[in-house]
Amino acid sequence: MVDKLRFDDEVVIVTGAGSGLGRAYALELAARGAKLVVNDLGGSTDGKGSDASAASRVVAEIEAGGGEAVASFDSVATPAGGKAIVDAAIDKWGRLDALISNAGILRDRSYAKLDLDEARSVVDVHFWGGGFYVAQPAFAAMKESGRGGRILLTTSASGLLGNFGQASYGAAKMGLVGLMRTLRIEGEKAGIKVNALAPIAGTRLTGAPVDDDAPKGPGKVAPIAVALAHAQCPTNGEIYMAGAGWYSRVMIGVTEGWVSPDATAETILANWDKVSDASTYSEPRSAGDISTIMRSITG
Ligand code: NAD
Repeated sequence: MVDKLRFDDEVVIVTGAGSGLGRAYALELAARGAKLVVNDLGGSTDGKGSDASAASRVVAEIEAGGGEAVASFDSVATPAGGKAIVDAAIDKWGRLDALISNAGILRDRSYAKLDLDEARSVVDVHFWGGGFYVAQPAFAAMKESGRGGRILLTTSASGLLGNFGQASYGAAKMGLVGLMRTLRIEGEKAGIKVNALAPIAGTRLTGAPVDDDAPKGPGKVAPIAVALAHAQCPTNGEIYMAGAGWYSRVMIGVTEGWVSPDATAETILANWDKVSDASTYSEPRSAGDISTIMRSITG
């Protein structure tokens, strides 16, 4: 058994914590003693407008439960906003232990009809915002503290696997996986662990908001987000998927493949089944692992 995971004296930032999954994460973390920066711009699901009441309401909920939180109304989608979110933690409590980078919008459009400005705004929030404008100053603060920390990036089944109409969203979400894999390596020595979570829950973003406690509610994802934000979680550089009480790890695998030093396009196509056969595969953890795998197969 694992003892109850507490976050006493720890400071956690949750972006997009004014509703849906982020709110559920923030409430659960606060209930376990964390001090929270509750960040939310408070706009619509397509990212238009802003409303300070989204973050303020969640701060009030945390305070009503006896917890400690500050609201941040900055947008994750600008470098200044990202820095201000991290500064909110450092200015108030002088430390940062974990970041859950969760804020998100949707502007679905089929690829042929994609409007580039719209696509860019989606990438700005999820990829540049979540992955760089907020996560980079957070990573730097954790490194400087000498205590390490945890960063949880929010990916999506749409990015990992594809979904009609979600070209920009999917590209941004899969881009975060590439970033996470590199931060795993760069943060290791400093004790910074970075993982990615693909949540599945009924929220306003999916057009089917449900209560936290509903069978498909955000509350069914919060436990794994909390586990991944805790210092006791040893995992670094992995992708998890969770929803409706289901908790799973997503892998990137390489098939054993087919070896032929004299291959041509024709012989490769003739042996396509062997190239693709997933009955034997390995799961490299970094680009460096590929050389080892290639050597072991090609000799
Ligand atoms: P949600 O709309 O309830 O929550 C997203 C929050 O992010 C909102 O409160 C919004 O105001 C905030 N936000 C948006 N743009 C912002 C910005 N620029 N700066 C600060 N805050 C901003 O939706 P959700 O479903 O809880 O989504 C949370 C995250 O989970 C998103 O990254 C989403 O892509 C991801 N996700 C959700 C699902 C799902 O099934 N709900 C599936 C896959 C991925």
